Order: sequence, then structure tokens, then C-alpha cells
Amino acid sequence: MTDQKSREYYQALLEKDTEYEGVFFVGVKTTGVFCRPTCPARKPKLQNCEFFATAEQALLASFRPCKRCQPLSHPSHVSESVQQLVEMVEQNPEKRWRERDFEALDLDASTARRQFKKRFGMTFIEYARARRMGLAMKEIRKGKPVIEAQLSTGYESSSGFRDAFSKIMGSPPSLGEEGKVLSAAWLDTKLGPMVAIADEQDLYLLEFVDRRGLEGEVERLRKKTKAAIIPGKTDPIDSIEEELDQYFKGELTCFQTPVKLLGTPFQMEVWEALCTIPFGDTWSYAELAASIGKPSGYRAVARANGANQLALMIPCHRIINSNGELGGYGGGLPRKEWLIQHEQRSGISLGV
Ligand SMILES: [Zn+2]
Repeated sequence: MTDQKSREYYQALLEKDTEYEGVFFVGVKTTGVFCRPTCPARKPKLQNCEFFATAEQALLASFRPCKRCQPLSHPSHVSESVQQLVEMVEQNPEKRWRERDFEALDLDASTARRQFKKRFGMTFIEYARARRMGLAMKEIRKGKPVIEAQLSTGYESSSGFRDAFSKIMGSPPSLGEEGKVLSAAWLDTKLGPMVAIADEQDLYLLEFVDRRGLEGEVERLRKKTKAAIIPGKTDPIDSIEEELDQYFKGELTCFQTPVKLLGTPFQMEVWEALCTIPFGDTWSYAELAASIGKPSGYRAVARANGANQLALMIPCHRIINSNGELGGYGGGLPRKEWLIQHEQRSGISLGV
């Protein structure tokens, strides 16, 4: 976000400007909560504010909803059952909600969930997941070793935090214990924060933090590598950070950071084919399927495309529908559209 935008939002926050309801949410670094623009609580200093376009982004950046302004409810209509669901997540932020958990609740679960979705633009399960991921991401974002972080998290229930982190990222081996460890870092980009996971040699994962299904991806990665993930940076992470910077400036068309591809032989074949799509160009799923000699394997190819764990580097965003529509993208369609246009523009100015 630009400084100018931040100042505009900060001004709206000071004035409790109702016109900005739903336009932004503000995370307060000193308290760890996020608010709507009109929150009645005392206003934080500008340098302690972080602004977000959606509540999900605030959750993923590890903020929890303010109890006073209840940013998850519609301003003029605070639904009790929605609030009740939110409070239940706060009691056990690391819990993984399943369908059957709702049966035990003392509320009309289907109504509450419908209201939740309507007010908030995401389902309750998605909310709980974003909150859980946010707790794990918080440490990755700070880049500090877990144990040190545990001592300094005054405002989180420490057991909830520890559980959320190790449930998603694995328990780091204790002193003297052998075990593979991967490092994870939070990288801010023009299109929002990304997480990079690598060992000393290779990058294993690069994704937008709010990517659908990120938690499952991290889990599969841990299983395949038998590794725990801890906050930190290694050479491949420094390298991709530098390359992303160049990419977003329109100065880089081909990533060189060494990567490790963990997929089935078929997935690897599809990913390698993706890497042959020229910068600035797009293919259809059918063209991709044909390029690996499986013109009828359209669906399997689309699935392999979606299983890509190295966003931008393996350019699955260059695959669109045959009719010219954008198709899907785990990182969200606005990003896909931006990426395609960005590559077309910088391709032309670079003469590739
Ligand atoms: Zn508030």
C-alpha cells in the first residue's frame, strides 16, 4: 500500500468516517487486534497501523477481531450467532473445524453459517482457517525462532499459538535431535504477501499467503520431506526475494533460483511444460495438454496445473480457458489478470 493511501485511511480512521466501512480494515500492531474504520476505541499511532482490504488478509497477518467494533459483523446489524462463532474460534484458535463440530453447538448452525458468509464474504470454516494460518504466519513474518517468539507473545494465549504453529508447520526438532528443517519467510510483494519455504539448496514452495489450500500444501510438503518448518531465511530465499523484486519491476522474465519439484512424474511433466510458455504469452488447458502429447488428458492436466507449489516461477497463471476467459487461479483471479497484463507489458518493453 502506498504511503498516500495509508495516510488517507489513517485520516478516515481518526474521523471514524463511515464511508470507509468495508473499504479497509486496520490492524493495530501494539494490541494485535484489527478494527473497522469507525471503531470507538482510542486510535493508534499511524506507525502502529497496518491497513487491509479484507478481513481475511488481516487474519492471515495474525490479527484477531476487535471486541469493541466487531469487524466481522455488519456495522448496523451485529448478529449474535456470528459473534458467537467468532468467539468460539478465539477460545481455541488452533482448532480445525469439521462439519460435525456444528452439531454440538447451541445455535442454529445453518442459519449462523449463512449469516456469516453473507456478512463476511467467506465461510466460517474459511475464517477459522485464516485465523489459524495467521497464527502460524505471525512467527514466519517476524522471522524469529519459535521459542523466542513464544516468550514474547503477550497477547496470544501461548498454548493456542504454539499449537497452531506446530500443527501447521511441524514441531521443530529439539536440541541435539536429528531432523530435517526447512526455513520459511514472509515476503511482501506488490500483489500481497507471499511465503517462501526452502532448505539450504533449493526452494520448495512459493505461494501467496492467502492462497486457497495453502495449509494443505504445507502439510503435504512436510510429509514428503519429513521436515519441520521454522521461521528463517536461507540462500534460495534471499535469491527469490531479489528475483521477485526484479520480476515485479518488469525486469525479469525467467527465475533462476534453484527449486525442488515434489510431484508425481505426470505433475512434473506438466510443470516442465508450463515453464516452456513464453513470458508474456498465454496458453489454453487444451494447448498445454497437447504439448505433453495428452490432448484428451485435459482434466488431469488442469489438476496438475493447480497442484503447482511455486507460484510465478512455474507460470500456471499463463493458462487460460480456450474461450479467452481467465479460468481459475489459486491465488485469485484479480492477481491472475494482473500477472498476465504485467508480463505482456514488460515483455514488450524488454523486447522478448
Ligand atoms: Zn475496534
